[in-house]
Amino acid sequence: MVIDEILAHNEHFVQQNSLPVIGHAPRKRMAVVTCMDCRLVRMFEQALGLERGDVLELRTAGATISEPEREGGASDLIRSLAGGIYLLGVREIAVIGHTQCGLAHANSTVLTASMQALGVNPQELIEKEELDGVKGLVSWLGAFDDVHVNVKEVVNVIRSSPYLPKIPVHGLVIDINTGKLEMIDRGGGAA
Ligand SMILES: [Zn+2]
Repeated sequence: MVIDEILAHNEHFVQQNSLPVIGHAPRKRMAVVTCMDCRLVRMFEQALGLERGDVLELRTAGATISEPEREGGASDLIRSLAGGIYLLGVREIAVIGHTQCGLAHANSTVLTASMQALGVNPQELIEKEELDGVKGLVSWLGAFDDVHVNVKEVVNVIRSSPYLPKIPVHGLVIDINTGKLEMIDRGGGAA
């Protein structure tokens, strides 16, 4: 399994490196919300000029908050942002979606076929969780049609969350191939 490869590498890593001890409060007082896409690994920090200790990084599939979790604003993303703001000094947030995201135009047929192949019955799940059919299943997953629209929506959910204070929340899209950032919605306000 891959975990064995990782463990072998890790043993070598700790022998070769001694990391400086740094605090857990992000130096740039910023939280960045982005996607779990594997192409963002390393490239994301390099493209943004981020070093270890600079920002909090929060990753969700699609850099999104799924439809059912938007109501009330008590999603895991909001909870993590609250921790970052109240306990770690975050005063600015950037939501960064990316081009060619796997959650854009997610195919419901592929999704249900994949679930079935792995022994999960989509129909049973839909009934048990009282989802609105396959459409409800796709929306639970957080799929969207347009990355720009999704980023704007997530920015607005964060801005209007009753759990969070009024701090600047920006929305951007990063090109997955070139690393170029595009500003969609620049947050204003203090800080
Ligand atoms: Zn993605």
